[in-house]
Amino acid sequence: MKQSLALVSLVVPDYDEAIAFYVGVLGFRLVEDTYRPEQDKRWVVVAPPGSPGPGLLLARATNAEQATRIGNQAGGRVFLFLQTDDFDRDFRRYTERGVEFVRPPKQEDYGKVAVFRDPWGNLWDLLQPSGGVAHATPAPGPGTLTGACLCGRVRFTVTAALPGPDACHCVQCRRQSGHYFVSTNVPRSAIAIDGLDGVTWFQSSAKVRRGFCATCGSALFWDPPAKDWIGVAMGAFDAPTGTRLEMHIHVAEKGDYYEITDDLPQHPH
Ligand SMILES: [Zn+2]
Ligand SMILES: [Zn+2]
Repeated sequence: MKQSLALVSLVVPDYDEAIAFYVGVLGFRLVEDTYRPEQDKRWVVVAPPGSPGPGLLLARATNAEQATRIGNQAGGRVFLFLQTDDFDRDFRRYTERGVEFVRPPKQEDYGKVAVFRDPWGNLWDLLQPSGGVAHATPAPGPGTLTGACLCGRVRFTVTAALPGPDACHCVQCRRQSGHYFVSTNVPRSAIAIDGLDGVTWFQSSAKVRRGFCATCGSALFWDPPAKDWIGVAMGAFDAPTGTRLEMHIHVAEKGDYYEITDDLPQHPH
């Protein structure tokens, strides 16, 4: 069984005020900001830079009961834990930007930690664990694969054996890649992306967004946010990956300018 935490709701008084703090001050990225007319709400998700993990759903309080929870969802305990690969850098940056630290930096057995308060009162740990950081770029080693876009602005490291990729011939994949698109599905916990702020996302269907380098346009990611994996373009890997194409999919939409000549399975959809 494989599960992961997808989103955590944070009750806020106002979407734009909250975006101004989490994106403007803390440097989170704005993952999504879309209006949902059926609920007359905005769906606003922010996430720490470089994190493939859960994001924060900024949920605007819409009644008096919800308003009482703003800034106090954990009854005064530390509510959220922000892990970093460089505590000193972030502590300095946040202090310069006026973030209020309510407990000064302290070296504990498990790492370096301080507590800050967001403008509404929620307490956050800023934490750099001792001896390695889960979400930092994993050190290269056996089973580590690296890749990048054409210009090198976006790089990624994968620490998992890759499942055999599919070649997708659907019209969207053809258009985004100029041919068919070959990608492999990597668990989100096994990929670290450097230069995530250089990725531009295009929502190609209700459940899928596609990630491209904003500078060179390379197609890199096929991302269904509800899943615990992300598709990564095979062609973006730096070196041989030890995996081979397994099948062709959506061949009903294949361009007729070339013929499939291998004997791999073909699926019409
Ligand atoms: Zn690029
Ligand atoms: Zn496709």
